[in-house]
Amino acid sequence: MGDAPCECGWKVGRDACRARFNELIARDFSDLVLFRTHRLFVDVYALQHPEAFGLSAKGLAAHLGDLCAILEHGASMATGLELLNHGLNGALALERPPLPSHRGDVTLGDVENADAALWPDELQRWGTAVWAAYGDLQPWARKLLTDLSR
Ligand SMILES: [Zn+2]
Repeated sequence: MGDAPCECGWKVGRDACRARFNELIARDFSDLVLFRTHRLFVDVYALQHPEAFGLSAKGLAAHLGDLCAILEHGASMATGLELLNHGLNGALALERPPLPSHRGDVTLGDVENADAALWPDELQRWGTAVWAAYGDLQPWARKLLTDLSR
């Protein structure tokens, strides 16, 4: 079991991938510069690990909606879309669409060693790859943002 690749595709396996994520999340909280991209990091990682995170329809909406807002509308990479956070606490009815089996050509393993100066660019590259992998769900995410902004 330990030899199976992580669901994101990184060959180190699920436990090592998650351990590295936890290390880098801790780093975000120790460095204000890194914290500027904290939300993007969490969104991208969660979207690449929907099974480990047990993403519900609302969880998927929160992370994919954030990613859409960050990449397409310049929303804050530190906090994502506050509107989405608030809107999703309401009684928005959502069904979770099928998730892509391939989660993108970039994984944490490709970006983990970027230093603080390169980290934002690497996160964008990673996020863009994950957004492309979720191509079938992009209209769903855009509609969600439109519905929430009414
Ligand atoms: Zn992984």
